[in-house]
Amino acid sequence: MSDVRIREVGPRDGLQAEAPLAVEGRVALIEALVAAGCRDVEAVAFVSPKAVPSMAGAAEVMAALDRSAGVRYWALVPNARGAELAAAAGVDALSVTVSASETYSQKNVKMSVEESVTAAGEIVRLWGDGPVDVVVSCAFGSPYEGDMAPAAVAALGRRLLDGGATSVTYADTTGMATPRRIDELIAESGPDIGLHLHETRGTGLVNAYAALEAGVRRFDTSVGGLGGSPFAAGAAGNLATEDLVHLLDDLGMTTGIALDRLLTASELVADLVGHPVPSRVAAAGPRTRLAAP
Ligand code: ZN
Repeated sequence: MSDVRIREVGPRDGLQAEAPLAVEGRVALIEALVAAGCRDVEAVAFVSPKAVPSMAGAAEVMAALDRSAGVRYWALVPNARGAELAAAAGVDALSVTVSASETYSQKNVKMSVEESVTAAGEIVRLWGDGPVDVVVSCAFGSPYEGDMAPAAVAALGRRLLDGGATSVTYADTTGMATPRRIDELIAESGPDIGLHLHETRGTGLVNAYAALEAGVRRFDTSVGGLGGSPFAAGAAGNLATEDLVHLLDDLGMTTGIALDRLLTASELVADLVGHPVPSRVAAAGPRTRLAAP
């Protein structure tokens, strides 16, 4: 058992805002991440290919994977139809998004928060005993409503757990979280949560550290730090997996992920998307990689 569970979301969240990649490239990336030791990989999304062209072909990606035992392959689904497609494709676990922001919800998924909670409940019932993680987006701030009240956000998370979600992850979709606000949410929610952090304002890693100190042990990260919602302006940049693994290694906290092999996957994703990735550890290398004399 690792000390910290990382769900690698690069193949989904990381690639969704990029130009569409061929199925083979997406499969190669997922397999490189698994080879690096990732045990929870958000591999695909069963969403409208018109709305998110880079996520088209999810069933083809799942079918082409050489699957490894002990790895959970996750899919993001927006509704019951997506859950049915995910089940048919052999996905192990689902992530479902519910926004804490009413206006963001209306604009992003054309549903009220209430309707999203109902839709999440339908997905949970359809999925049976399998894991369903509900990701509460805009948990630290909305582009329309500003700061979110931690007590209200935590209350939404509790409702989702009561509705059958197996876990809840709070997402800093807009990059508005700070260590103080992380502490305020955890004071309301308790530490048995996942966090999905963004580097929009350079606070992703320091927020993760604050959460670690408060006892949180589940994080979503993206290889290379790619990603961010295409629907939230300026929301570029998930917390990079290699940046968090580098920090955790030095703290003596295990993730099961080998940093050197992860950096190989990071080089692969930079090749695939055709531009450098934002991760600082990808740029600088591991701290023990010394220059040749
Ligand atoms: Zn993200």
